[in-house]
Amino acid sequence: MITVNKIDVLAIGAHPDDIEAGAGGLVAKFVQQGLSVGLLDLTAGEMSTNGTPEERQKEAQGAAQVLGVTWRKCLGLPDREITLIKKNVKALVEVIRQSRPRLILCPYWEDRHPDHVNAARLTIEAHFDAGLKKVCDHLLPHRASHLWHYFLSRATEPQFVVDVSHCYEIKRAAIMAHKTQFGQGRDIQKTFLNAGPGSFLSIIESRDCYYGSLMGCQYGEGFITAIPLAIQDPTSLLGVKG
Ligand SMILES: [Zn+2]
Repeated sequence: MITVNKIDVLAIGAHPDDIEAGAGGLVAKFVQQGLSVGLLDLTAGEMSTNGTPEERQKEAQGAAQVLGVTWRKCLGLPDREITLIKKNVKALVEVIRQSRPRLILCPYWEDRHPDHVNAARLTIEAHFDAGLKKVCDHLLPHRASHLWHYFLSRATEPQFVVDVSHCYEIKRAAIMAHKTQFGQGRDIQKTFLNAGPGSFLSIIESRDCYYGSLMGCQYGEGFITAIPLAIQDPTSLLGVKG
């Protein structure tokens, strides 16, 4: 069992660069607003074309520093084997119960990469089980009030968009901290992530730009949630004080 501290927001990714790509702007914004954020990579990304697990771990910690989060941990599931077995759900339940977040972020449930799909499914299961008293009863139950899904290589119409324009340089720097994945160099092979006009990097930035345009700002990150957002103060949406 890995040990983590209590935080406000728990962001979960299948691989060490997922959170930065899908929700790096929101994470940076939360940190700037004084919330504590923990990042959990389900795997060390050891199956990636470029970079060793050691290099990737170093890069992940570098990106965590750029974002200013409280902690970043790896759950240690095998890359390409994020299966929905009890052992994996329990390991994630233990992290959720220790960290006791108000919000959990995880990938959207449709994606070209099956690990992202499975990371979403595993998180949905663990988010639910974490609130069940009789599931691994050595830790107190906890169910986060919010579970928001961020987009990676596939997206749908977002339910809401967060203006991340003023944090966008931080998001870019956090992504580029993963040099073996997004950098260029003689030792780095060209992949879907780092090369070409249809590369993952260009998908992320053009999508953030498009979502930003929907709300009249430069960059926006889109999210969806199966739990309806409760608006306590409708005037806050109108930019006036309630
Ligand atoms: Zn990934």
